[in-house]
Amino acid sequence: MPPFSVRSAELLAVGTELLLGEIVDTNSAWLAQQLADRSVDVYWSQRVGDNRARIAEAVRQAAARSDLVVVCGGLGPTDDDVTREALADVAGEEPRVDPGLEAELRTRFARFSRTMPERNLKQAWLIPSAEALPNPVGTAPGWLLRLPRPGGGETIVVALPGPPAEMMPMWLDRVRPRLAFPTARFVATTFKTFGIGESHVAELLGAWTQRANPSVATYAKRDGVHVRVAAKADDDAAARALLAPAAAAVADALGDRVWGTDGDELAERALAAVAARNGSLALVDLATGGRLAALLSDARPSDDDAAADAERAGSLRSGPLRGAVIAWRDEALDVLGVPYAVRDAVTTDPLGAGKTDDEVDDAAALARAACARFATDHGVALTPWRARAADGMARPSWTACWAVVGPFGTEARRVTFPPQGAGARDERLAFSTLFALWSLTKT
Ligand code: ATP
Repeated sequence: MPPFSVRSAELLAVGTELLLGEIVDTNSAWLAQQLADRSVDVYWSQRVGDNRARIAEAVRQAAARSDLVVVCGGLGPTDDDVTREALADVAGEEPRVDPGLEAELRTRFARFSRTMPERNLKQAWLIPSAEALPNPVGTAPGWLLRLPRPGGGETIVVALPGPPAEMMPMWLDRVRPRLAFPTARFVATTFKTFGIGESHVAELLGAWTQRANPSVATYAKRDGVHVRVAAKADDDAAARALLAPAAAAVADALGDRVWGTDGDELAERALAAVAARNGSLALVDLATGGRLAALLSDARPSDDDAAADAERAGSLRSGPLRGAVIAWRDEALDVLGVPYAVRDAVTTDPLGAGKTDDEVDDAAALARAACARFATDHGVALTPWRARAADGMARPSWTACWAVVGPFGTEARRVTFPPQGAGARDERLAFSTLFALWSLTKT
């Protein structure tokens, strides 16, 4: 049978757990990426509970407007798994036990020396207009259904099991080869910025954000504002030709606020910049509980040669990173041999506004102490700014200091974050520091 031509698709995730927020619909996210990669338009994606009438209604609606409908979940053996019943209702057909599927199901149970509960027989159901899609991992086969479309032509409805480990191989091996995708190509590139708000970025981009193809869109992310430039055309070369001038204009408008593109990670870029100077790095963290060290140690050398060299040297994870002191109590700073004056200033709580500059100096001194302790030429320090109100009560503080020292000198700042919780503050501080490190060390 020739492949089914698919230009538009719609996703339908079935499960009351999804509506209650007990599980997150990662299946739809994965399928949406699969379809976007093939230039298939996805205009609707929805979740529906384990309810036969509502599933049928959603499938009817989807089938009337899209070439392909992918339904995930509800193929289990229990009474609340009603996707098969709903699809039979839409097709106007009666499900019957398919002898071939039943034999396979019984063999599968026998292979694991288990007797098959009779309710599993439901998983051998089929309707005349559906064909079964084998499931190599679980007991529930999928269905592929062809439904006539009111205006002519037909819609393909595919039902896949909910567990991602079953759904993904079935999509890749059983469904995807049966479909013919548009030849149009979608190409995109993402610019990653830091230290500039989303509306300011939008202002810099001017009229570019109002265009449809190529399109320019902004996204606020944990590591800054990302700007995605995308273009679609009949073939790869045409799509790239459309993308190129838009990407160049966007790069120009954003200037040196851009620290990376596409798959780049800020920690990796900062470490690469230090490595490019043959530098080494140490850090001391009194503020984020190790978040900065975790981001840096997760950043693998980016090119294969560097990774192979690092592996041979037995330091795959470290790159230029030599050591870190992560402390929650000031006494722990003894390992750095920090001069008393600095330690005293850092540990003293009641700092007034006039002390701010001292705090910044203290952070810089700590960064230098980290360099000395680990024999590095670059150092980073993070310190909390422990505000205490006039009544003597400690208050949660959204202000902290970072310092970066290196052959270029010293750069240290006090930064204030919106009160979004300690986790968000620590993350913002870690990314601010990485951006500063990258800006100061990049060549
Ligand atoms: P089973 O044979 O396991 O009952 P099923 O097709 O009936 O499969 P569901 O019962 O709907 O699938 O879901 C089974 C499990 O699969 C869920 O508990 C959940 O862990 C996972 N799952 C289902 N739908 C999704 C989804 N949309 N995204 C991510 N995980 C999902």
